[in-house]
Amino acid sequence: MIEAYDSLIIRCPQLGGEVPFKYCRTLSEELPCRKIIICWEFRIEIGKYLSEHFSFDQLQTALAPPTKTRLETILEFIEKAKKTREEG
Ligand code: SF4
Repeated sequence: MIEAYDSLIIRCPQLGGEVPFKYCRTLSEELPCRKIIICWEFRIEIGKYLSEHFSFDQLQTALAPPTKTRLETILEFIEKAKKTREEG
């Protein structure tokens, strides 16, 4: 469920204070903060979480600019995983 990690707390490098995961996943007009993967990758399975709760287009809108290379790789991974799931 999309609220699964909402109560987890992290220190936000942009705000300089602590925020809950819910803040990170809804920051950009109900879409995730573009740094969500970088901030959360060591805490939760963020790639899996995003692929389960957001469409590829939503993620591209939310995450793509301006740090593209690394995110593109992850987004491609997510898309492939989705395709594999759809085919299987
Ligand atoms: S994902 Fe965004 S809002 Fe959340 S901690 Fe990182 S920079 Fe801050």
